[in-house]
Amino acid sequence: MGSVGAKEIPQLITPDGRRIDGRLPDELRQLRIVAGPLHRADGSAYVEWGLNKVMAAVYGPREVHPRHLQQNNKAIVQCKYNMAAFSVDERKRPGLDRRSQEISKVIAEAFESVIFVEEFPRTSIDVYIEVLQANAGTRCAGVVAASVALADAGIPMVDLLPSVAVGKVGGKICLDLKKEEDNFGEADLPMALVPQSGRLVLLQMEGHMTRDELSQSLDLGVKGCRSIYEVMRAALREKYSVEPSAATPAAAGVGQ
Ligand code: ADP
Repeated sequence: MGSVGAKEIPQLITPDGRRIDGRLPDELRQLRIVAGPLHRADGSAYVEWGLNKVMAAVYGPREVHPRHLQQNNKAIVQCKYNMAAFSVDERKRPGLDRRSQEISKVIAEAFESVIFVEEFPRTSIDVYIEVLQANAGTRCAGVVAASVALADAGIPMVDLLPSVAVGKVGGKICLDLKKEEDNFGEADLPMALVPQSGRLVLLQMEGHMTRDELSQSLDLGVKGCRSIYEVMRAALREKYSVEPSAATPAAAGVGQ
């Protein structure tokens, strides 16, 4: 442990190149996805990713509320990302804040670009993302959960949308940052990718990195997204290969 003033900062990369939880820079946290755990939603998914626990529910295509948002030539995609008050160490103030509004907006825009919205004019596709436990990368876990939930709801899309954050931690480019790496690292770069075409539909960045590091991060993120994509597909296969009423939470995992 090093220290800055009164603040203890953990050693983010050990001398043998391992991270705070023993992962190598290109390793994902354990990822487990359950497709369709909620019976009242049109589609749903539950994701456990490291210490993140995220539930997504999808409704629609259905009538637009509020009505004035209705578009004559396509469906609108509305997203509500919410972090539960008990999802973080210090109780989070419940309700909408700027951060959740921003995350809801970028996620809705990402899905609007992969859903065949022209097929459902004058309707709304509503995506709810509830973060039950947070440990960095919750917007990515939210995209993964919502994507499986949309597929579970039978909403036609170009493809599933895997998502992961890459970052710079202790001078190293690392895949899938956990909380301490997000807090004390130099940069954080969440992304979501259409796997077949390689098109990025969500890309944000906090912190600093060089052009070379950015390009290295994008390559690593694309690789991570491709592994996550396989887990998403496996979760959907798991649900749809058994009787819907008998569907049991099935696990699929990558990384460590
Ligand atoms: P993401 O969860 O997508 O990485 P951020 O980078 O904004 O989004 O947040 C990183 C982590 O910081 C979150 O996953 C959560 O663990 C923590 N965090 C975010 N907002 C709060 C908050 N209001 N109170 C406490 N912890 C928070």
